[in-house]
Amino acid sequence: MSNVSYRQVHLDFHTSEYIPDVANGFDGEEFAETLLAAYVDSVTCFARCHHGWLYYPSKNRPDLIHPNIKNRELLLEQINACHQKDIKVPIYTTVQWDAYIAREFPEWLSIDESGKYINTQNVPEPHFYYTICLNSDYRTYFKEHLQDIIDVVEINNIDGFFLDILFEVDCHCDRCINKMQELDFNVNSLNERMKYATYMLNEFKKEISEFIKERVPHAGIFYNSSHVGPKIKPSLNDYTHLELESLPSGGWGYDHFPSTVRYARKLGKEIIGMTGKFHTYWGDFHSLKNKAALEFECFNMIASGAGSSIGDQLHPSGKLSPGSYQLIGSVYERISKMEDYCRDSTCLTEIAVLTPEEQTMEKGGNLGVDPSLIGAVRLLQELSYQFDIIDSNMVFEDYKLIILPDHIQYSKELENKLLQYTSSGGKVIATHKSLAKDNESENKLFGINWLGESYFDREFVLPNETIGKNLHPEEYVMYKKGSKVEATKADVLMHSVQPYFNREGKTFCSHQHSPSSKQLGHPAVTMLDQVIYFSHPIFDIYRKNAPFWCKAMLNDAIKMVLDKKLVEHNGPATLITSLQVNENRNAKMVHLLHYITEKKSEDIYTIEETIPLYHLDLKVHVGDMTVTQLKSIPTTKKIDFDQKGEYVTFQIDKLDGHMLVVMEGEN
Ligand SMILES: [Zn+2]
Repeated sequence: MSNVSYRQVHLDFHTSEYIPDVANGFDGEEFAETLLAAYVDSVTCFARCHHGWLYYPSKNRPDLIHPNIKNRELLLEQINACHQKDIKVPIYTTVQWDAYIAREFPEWLSIDESGKYINTQNVPEPHFYYTICLNSDYRTYFKEHLQDIIDVVEINNIDGFFLDILFEVDCHCDRCINKMQELDFNVNSLNERMKYATYMLNEFKKEISEFIKERVPHAGIFYNSSHVGPKIKPSLNDYTHLELESLPSGGWGYDHFPSTVRYARKLGKEIIGMTGKFHTYWGDFHSLKNKAALEFECFNMIASGAGSSIGDQLHPSGKLSPGSYQLIGSVYERISKMEDYCRDSTCLTEIAVLTPEEQTMEKGGNLGVDPSLIGAVRLLQELSYQFDIIDSNMVFEDYKLIILPDHIQYSKELENKLLQYTSSGGKVIATHKSLAKDNESENKLFGINWLGESYFDREFVLPNETIGKNLHPEEYVMYKKGSKVEATKADVLMHSVQPYFNREGKTFCSHQHSPSSKQLGHPAVTMLDQVIYFSHPIFDIYRKNAPFWCKAMLNDAIKMVLDKKLVEHNGPATLITSLQVNENRNAKMVHLLHYITEKKSEDIYTIEETIPLYHLDLKVHVGDMTVTQLKSIPTTKKIDFDQKGEYVTFQIDKLDGHMLVVMEGEN
């Protein structure tokens, strides 16, 4: 039985010492009542904040209790009042940001090559963003702090720990330089120093998890690094579950969560998505997110197989904002009605996208998400395919089709694994430099020779009856440089067409690229058995420019190799679908989400309103299940349906934002 929260609030409380009368308006009963009325089942509350202050009656460091706090029992009363209403209270503490430490123990801070403190947020002073070095006596300080929380809050009152801010930083302090030399990391290589940073972070997590598990074996443990990707795997045992911080109107955008959750759900841990109720980002006091945006973000978590968490910040007075809890309650009431079906369910998928993050994770940036992966996620979502994101060590045979987007590096091991997979019936679609070998030897999987990058910066593709069949049979531009290949064993499904020339030296034409010279170039799409290869980076191109012809070409290729599709509909590309199965309830569920993000301001994307869709036809693959009843949630209205063999068809009269269609039956 799944244990994670489906309706959590992450209640920030970073409170300056220059604010008076902290927590003077706090009332435990009112606090818990407000949360309960908003259908909240878990609230993460603060033991210590980034300013370095404590919010519980510390025995070990009473001098660090917030200097202006009027209620020294704040955390204890929050826990007590919430537990009486069956609301869990994981305890928040900060790890690498602490203004008190920065002030009083600057020798514990990480420093860069020039000896400057490392501020990963690029926020000018004043701030609390100087990163603490975990290879310092701070580790003892931190463990004494955890022990203090355990002693004061008491084991039986502790639900879990949310340990915030664990970042890899390129620390040049004497301790780290010595440690790197001791461990044989090359201190002159950035790559090696970052490997050391990962090592140090993982060592810290292991030590802290052992410390907590010894004392509070039942506690949840999560370390927040603002992104979850393949890098987490070596330390996964130190987590009880995963919380995917991803505030679309913060730095993450709307592409980060879907690109992360589809991978994270394959790691064998229960997961919670995390957004915020803020209009923009954490710390945005007195702002509310558009309701439609919050609905989409939370419902998309549930549809993706995760629980939901909404970030808020408690006013220094200790009183929750009624407006915030009216907003949160409106979303969580809906989730409470879906939860019985969605909890313990699995997302059914037909396609896996191999993540490029395994090879780019050392570089970081873009919160870990490669543009080609974002392009792939967008394309497959828009085409209503059901898919996961996996790494090369996961099981390929769970999928009918594996996609290798644009830059999946060649390795003998991966090639062999894919050859094995295709020999047992698996299909592959690969693009551009994926599995490219530098020498001119034949790529056995694709049946082509890879001859390097194309000479032309931009070239064209020519649609035909196989690829791009619904496009006009004339040239379409590829906005990024492709690969030059020759087919050895593969059939050529589509040709590229060359421009007159590159825009270079004396040659240029008009405002951008020169037009088609009508000269056929190297193959643009090839096929060998059930393996299709595109020589252009269509996923990067889609991320950059979203040309519809890339989507049409990919869709034709997928249809050539997949004989069944799990969810089909006649709605627009803005409709997101997700198919889940709940074995305990003998039910399959389809989530339908129709919310359109809009960039209506310089800084952020948001969703202001829902735009309903009417008379939506759906065809869902249910396999050998005999469907006896179809109903929709939230309305619980029965839906007429037809079952023909493995498919159920039905019509939705009106979809206003989100709907969960539950198909109950017998096997
Ligand atoms: Zn250091």
